[in-house]
Amino acid sequence: MSGVEPKRVSEALRDAARMFEQTSDSARLDAELIMAYQLGVSRSQMLLTRMDAACPEGFLDNCKRRMAQEPVAYILGEQEFFGLPFKVGPGVLIPRSDSEVLVETALDLVGEIGSVLDLGTGSGALLLAFLANRPGWSGVGVDQSSEALQYASQNAERLGQANCSKWLRFDWRKSDLAELAASFDLILCNPPYVETDAALARDVKDYEPASALFAGADGLDDYRILIPRIRELMRDGAVAIFEIGATQADAVGTLAKEHGFSPEIRKDLANRPRAVVLR
Ligand code: GLN
Repeated sequence: MSGVEPKRVSEALRDAARMFEQTSDSARLDAELIMAYQLGVSRSQMLLTRMDAACPEGFLDNCKRRMAQEPVAYILGEQEFFGLPFKVGPGVLIPRSDSEVLVETALDLVGEIGSVLDLGTGSGALLLAFLANRPGWSGVGVDQSSEALQYASQNAERLGQANCSKWLRFDWRKSDLAELAASFDLILCNPPYVETDAALARDVKDYEPASALFAGADGLDDYRILIPRIRELMRDGAVAIFEIGATQADAVGTLAKEHGFSPEIRKDLANRPRAVVLR
Protein backbone atom coordinates (compact mmCIF):
# COMPACT_ATOMS: atom_id res chain seq x y z
CA MET A 1 0.00 0.00 0.00
CA SER A 2 1.21 3.47 -0.66
CA GLY A 3 -0.03 6.98 -0.57
CA VAL A 4 -2.61 6.77 2.24
CA GLU A 5 -1.13 8.46 5.30
CA PRO A 6 -2.72 7.45 8.59
CA LYS A 7 -4.53 10.25 10.38
CA ARG A 8 -2.52 12.27 12.84
CA VAL A 9 -3.50 12.29 16.49
CA SER A 10 -4.73 15.90 16.31
CA GLU A 11 -7.08 15.14 13.44
CA ALA A 12 -8.29 11.87 14.91
CA LEU A 13 -9.07 13.66 18.20
CA ARG A 14 -11.06 16.33 16.41
CA ASP A 15 -13.06 13.78 14.43
CA ALA A 16 -13.73 11.62 17.47
CA ALA A 17 -14.80 14.58 19.60
CA ARG A 18 -17.22 15.67 16.89
CA MET A 19 -18.67 12.17 16.77
CA PHE A 20 -18.99 11.88 20.57
CA GLU A 21 -20.86 15.18 20.80
CA GLN A 22 -24.03 13.36 19.79
CA THR A 23 -23.94 11.20 22.92
CA SER A 24 -21.56 12.68 25.48
CA ASP A 25 -21.30 16.00 27.28
CA SER A 26 -17.57 15.52 27.75
CA ALA A 27 -16.85 14.69 24.09
CA ARG A 28 -13.37 16.19 23.69
CA LEU A 29 -12.19 14.89 27.06
CA ASP A 30 -13.47 11.39 26.26
CA ALA A 31 -11.54 11.42 22.97
CA GLU A 32 -8.35 12.63 24.66
CA LEU A 33 -8.56 10.03 27.43
CA ILE A 34 -9.07 7.19 24.97
CA MET A 35 -6.24 8.42 22.74
CA ALA A 36 -3.78 8.84 25.62
CA TYR A 37 -4.65 5.32 26.78
CA GLN A 38 -4.07 3.98 23.27
CA LEU A 39 -0.72 5.76 23.06
CA GLY A 40 0.28 4.55 26.52
CA VAL A 41 1.09 8.06 27.78
CA SER A 42 -0.59 10.51 30.13
CA ARG A 43 -3.09 12.95 28.70
CA SER A 44 -0.78 15.91 29.30
CA GLN A 45 2.18 14.11 27.70
CA MET A 46 0.01 13.39 24.70
CA LEU A 47 -1.13 17.00 24.37
CA LEU A 48 2.44 18.26 24.66
CA THR A 49 4.33 15.75 22.54
CA ARG A 50 2.14 13.47 20.42
CA MET A 51 -0.29 15.61 18.48
CA ASP A 52 1.59 15.05 15.20
CA ALA A 53 2.13 11.33 15.73
CA ALA A 54 0.22 8.78 13.69
CA CYS A 55 -3.13 7.83 15.17
CA PRO A 56 -2.61 4.45 16.85
CA GLU A 57 -4.39 1.31 15.77
CA GLY A 58 -7.26 0.41 18.02
CA PHE A 59 -8.35 4.01 18.59
CA LEU A 60 -11.26 3.66 16.19
CA ASP A 61 -12.50 0.44 17.83
CA ASN A 62 -12.54 2.10 21.21
CA CYS A 63 -14.31 5.12 19.71
CA LYS A 64 -17.02 2.74 18.53
CA ARG A 65 -17.40 1.44 22.08
CA ARG A 66 -17.78 5.00 23.34
CA MET A 67 -20.33 5.74 20.59
CA ALA A 68 -22.37 2.84 21.97
CA GLN A 69 -22.21 4.79 25.28
CA GLU A 70 -19.91 2.47 27.12
CA PRO A 71 -18.37 4.50 29.97
CA VAL A 72 -14.83 5.76 29.28
CA ALA A 73 -13.66 4.19 32.55
CA TYR A 74 -14.67 0.72 31.30
CA ILE A 75 -12.87 1.28 27.98
CA LEU A 76 -9.72 2.36 29.82
CA GLY A 77 -10.17 -0.21 32.61
CA GLU A 78 -9.35 2.48 35.12
CA GLN A 79 -10.83 5.41 37.02
CA GLU A 80 -9.08 7.92 39.25
CA PHE A 81 -10.60 8.49 42.69
CA PHE A 82 -9.13 10.64 45.45
CA GLY A 83 -5.97 10.98 43.34
CA LEU A 84 -5.48 7.20 43.10
CA PRO A 85 -5.91 4.87 40.12
CA PHE A 86 -8.60 2.19 40.49
CA LYS A 87 -9.01 -0.74 38.16
CA VAL A 88 -12.65 -0.99 37.07
CA GLY A 89 -14.68 -2.84 34.47
CA PRO A 90 -18.09 -4.33 33.80
CA GLY A 91 -19.54 -5.68 37.04
CA VAL A 92 -18.27 -2.94 39.32
CA LEU A 93 -19.57 0.59 39.92
CA ILE A 94 -17.24 3.32 38.64
CA PRO A 95 -16.16 5.50 41.57
CA ARG A 96 -17.53 9.06 41.31
CA SER A 97 -15.81 12.20 42.51
CA ASP A 98 -19.05 13.01 44.39
CA SER A 99 -18.10 10.23 46.80
CA GLU A 100 -14.75 11.80 47.71
CA VAL A 101 -16.53 13.83 50.40
CA LEU A 102 -17.02 10.60 52.38
CA VAL A 103 -13.27 10.03 52.49
CA GLU A 104 -12.57 13.68 53.34
CA THR A 105 -15.15 13.61 56.13
CA ALA A 106 -13.72 10.40 57.54
CA LEU A 107 -10.16 11.76 57.51
CA ASP A 108 -11.50 14.85 59.23
CA LEU A 109 -13.25 13.02 62.04
CA VAL A 110 -11.13 10.01 63.03
CA GLY A 111 -7.78 9.52 64.73
CA GLU A 112 -4.55 7.86 63.68
CA ILE A 113 -5.36 4.26 64.58
CA GLY A 114 -8.46 2.18 64.10
CA SER A 115 -10.42 -0.30 62.12
CA VAL A 116 -12.82 0.51 59.28
CA LEU A 117 -15.64 -1.34 57.53
CA ASP A 118 -16.74 -0.44 53.99
CA LEU A 119 -20.24 -1.75 53.28
CA GLY A 120 -20.80 -2.27 49.54
CA THR A 121 -17.18 -1.63 48.71
CA GLY A 122 -17.33 -2.20 44.92
CA SER A 123 -13.89 -1.38 43.53
CA GLY A 124 -12.68 -0.70 47.07
CA ALA A 125 -12.47 3.02 46.33
CA LEU A 126 -13.72 4.43 49.65
CA LEU A 127 -11.82 1.97 51.82
CA LEU A 128 -8.54 2.14 49.91
CA ALA A 129 -8.56 5.93 49.54
CA PHE A 130 -9.07 6.16 53.30
CA LEU A 131 -6.38 3.58 54.15
CA ALA A 132 -3.90 5.23 51.79
CA ASN A 133 -4.17 8.32 53.99
CA ARG A 134 -4.28 6.58 57.39
CA PRO A 135 -1.41 4.11 57.58
CA GLY A 136 -2.28 3.18 61.19
CA TRP A 137 -5.65 1.73 60.18
CA SER A 138 -6.80 -1.60 58.80
CA GLY A 139 -10.09 -2.37 57.14
CA VAL A 140 -12.63 -4.80 55.77
CA GLY A 141 -14.55 -4.28 52.54
CA VAL A 142 -17.73 -6.28 51.97
CA ASP A 143 -19.85 -6.64 48.87
CA GLN A 144 -22.52 -9.02 47.61
CA SER A 145 -20.72 -9.26 44.27
CA SER A 146 -17.71 -11.56 43.97
CA GLU A 147 -16.82 -9.79 40.73
CA ALA A 148 -16.58 -6.47 42.56
CA LEU A 149 -14.46 -8.06 45.29
CA GLN A 150 -11.97 -9.25 42.70
CA TYR A 151 -11.49 -5.68 41.52
CA ALA A 152 -11.22 -4.50 45.12
CA SER A 153 -8.52 -6.99 46.08
CA GLN A 154 -6.54 -6.25 42.91
CA ASN A 155 -6.80 -2.56 43.70
CA ALA A 156 -5.56 -3.23 47.22
CA GLU A 157 -2.49 -5.04 45.82
CA ARG A 158 -1.82 -2.33 43.32
CA LEU A 159 -2.09 0.45 45.87
CA GLY A 160 0.10 -1.35 48.38
CA GLN A 161 -2.78 -1.89 50.85
CA ALA A 162 -3.12 -5.67 50.64
CA ASN A 163 -1.67 -6.18 54.13
CA CYS A 164 -4.15 -3.94 55.89
CA SER A 165 -7.33 -4.81 53.99
CA LYS A 166 -9.61 -7.85 53.85
CA TRP A 167 -12.43 -8.55 51.42
CA LEU A 168 -15.53 -10.49 52.26
CA ARG A 169 -18.60 -11.54 50.34
CA PHE A 170 -21.65 -10.42 52.26
CA ASP A 171 -25.19 -9.38 51.32
CA TRP A 172 -27.04 -7.34 53.92
CA ARG A 173 -30.31 -7.89 52.03
CA LYS A 174 -30.01 -11.62 52.74
CA SER A 175 -27.91 -11.90 55.90
CA ASP A 176 -28.00 -10.33 59.33
CA LEU A 177 -25.37 -7.63 59.92
CA ALA A 178 -24.50 -9.43 63.17
CA GLU A 179 -22.94 -12.17 61.02
CA LEU A 180 -20.03 -9.82 60.39
CA ALA A 181 -19.19 -10.50 64.04
CA ALA A 182 -16.90 -7.54 64.50
CA SER A 183 -17.06 -3.90 65.48
CA PHE A 184 -15.36 -0.89 63.98
CA ASP A 185 -14.24 2.68 64.65
CA LEU A 186 -15.42 3.84 61.25
CA ILE A 187 -18.06 2.60 58.83
CA LEU A 188 -18.17 3.85 55.27
CA CYS A 189 -21.09 2.99 53.02
CA ASN A 190 -22.12 3.99 49.53
CA PRO A 191 -25.23 1.81 49.19
CA PRO A 192 -27.48 1.63 46.15
CA TYR A 193 -29.82 4.62 46.41
CA VAL A 194 -31.32 5.26 42.98
CA GLU A 195 -35.11 5.07 42.58
CA THR A 196 -36.14 2.05 40.51
CA ASP A 197 -37.74 4.15 37.79
CA ALA A 198 -35.15 6.98 37.73
CA ALA A 199 -34.15 8.24 34.28
CA LEU A 200 -30.45 7.43 34.30
CA ALA A 201 -28.02 8.15 31.47
CA ARG A 202 -27.54 5.17 29.17
CA ASP A 203 -23.85 5.03 30.10
CA VAL A 204 -24.94 4.19 33.63
CA LYS A 205 -28.13 2.21 33.08
CA ASP A 206 -26.90 -0.02 30.26
CA TYR A 207 -23.42 -0.70 31.63
CA GLU A 208 -23.03 -0.36 35.37
CA PRO A 209 -24.31 -3.06 37.73
CA ALA A 210 -27.97 -2.50 38.65
CA SER A 211 -27.31 -4.10 42.04
CA ALA A 212 -25.01 -1.20 42.93
CA LEU A 213 -27.53 1.44 41.86
CA PHE A 214 -31.16 0.65 42.53
CA ALA A 215 -32.84 0.55 45.93
CA GLY A 216 -36.60 0.39 45.52
CA ALA A 217 -39.26 2.92 44.54
CA ASP A 218 -37.82 5.74 46.68
CA GLY A 219 -34.19 4.57 46.63
CA LEU A 220 -34.19 4.15 50.41
CA ASP A 221 -34.43 0.35 50.77
CA ASP A 222 -30.84 -0.15 51.89
CA TYR A 223 -30.86 2.68 54.45
CA ARG A 224 -33.96 1.06 55.97
CA ILE A 225 -32.03 -2.17 56.38
CA LEU A 226 -28.71 -0.70 57.53
CA ILE A 227 -29.43 2.32 59.71
CA PRO A 228 -31.59 0.52 62.32
CA ARG A 229 -28.82 -2.06 62.87
CA ILE A 230 -25.63 -0.13 62.22
CA ARG A 231 -24.94 0.61 65.88
CA GLU A 232 -24.26 -3.11 66.45
CA LEU A 233 -21.14 -2.73 64.33
CA MET A 234 -19.93 0.51 65.92
CA ARG A 235 -17.46 0.64 68.81
CA ASP A 236 -17.84 3.38 71.42
CA GLY A 237 -17.11 6.71 69.74
CA ALA A 238 -17.32 5.26 66.24
CA VAL A 239 -18.48 7.22 63.20
CA ALA A 240 -20.63 5.90 60.34
CA ILE A 241 -20.74 7.81 57.07
CA PHE A 242 -23.36 7.00 54.43
CA GLU A 243 -23.47 8.40 50.93
CA ILE A 244 -26.92 9.68 49.95
CA GLY A 245 -28.62 10.88 46.78
CA ALA A 246 -28.83 14.67 46.49
CA THR A 247 -32.54 14.72 47.44
CA GLN A 248 -32.40 12.17 50.25
CA ALA A 249 -30.95 14.21 53.13
CA ASP A 250 -34.33 14.75 54.84
CA ALA A 251 -35.56 11.19 54.50
CA VAL A 252 -32.29 9.57 55.61
CA GLY A 253 -31.85 12.18 58.36
CA THR A 254 -35.32 11.40 59.72
CA LEU A 255 -34.64 7.68 59.66
CA ALA A 256 -31.37 8.23 61.53
CA LYS A 257 -33.11 10.35 64.19
CA GLU A 258 -35.74 7.65 64.67
CA HIS A 259 -32.87 5.35 65.57
CA GLY A 260 -31.28 7.66 68.09
CA PHE A 261 -28.61 9.39 66.00
CA SER A 262 -28.01 13.12 65.54
CA PRO A 263 -27.26 13.08 61.83
CA GLU A 264 -24.99 15.66 60.25
CA ILE A 265 -25.05 16.33 56.49
CA ARG A 266 -21.94 17.00 54.38
CA LYS A 267 -22.03 18.40 50.84
CA ASP A 268 -20.14 17.36 47.72
CA LEU A 269 -18.07 19.58 45.42
CA ALA A 270 -21.23 20.67 43.61
CA ASN A 271 -22.66 21.76 46.96
CA ARG A 272 -25.30 19.02 47.01
CA PRO A 273 -25.99 17.03 50.19
CA ARG A 274 -23.95 13.85 49.70
CA ALA A 275 -23.05 12.30 53.03
CA VAL A 276 -24.80 11.65 56.32
CA VAL A 277 -22.57 11.32 59.38
CA LEU A 278 -23.89 9.24 62.29
CA ARG A 279 -22.32 9.25 65.72
N1 GLN B 1 -24.19 8.37 42.31
C1 GLN B 1 -24.57 7.26 41.52
C2 GLN B 1 -25.34 7.70 40.29
O1 GLN B 1 -26.13 8.61 40.37
C3 GLN B 1 -25.40 6.30 42.30
C4 GLN B 1 -24.56 5.48 43.19
C5 GLN B 1 -25.35 4.73 44.18
O2 GLN B 1 -26.53 4.39 44.00
N2 GLN B 1 -24.74 4.47 45.24
O3 GLN B 1 -25.17 7.16 39.23
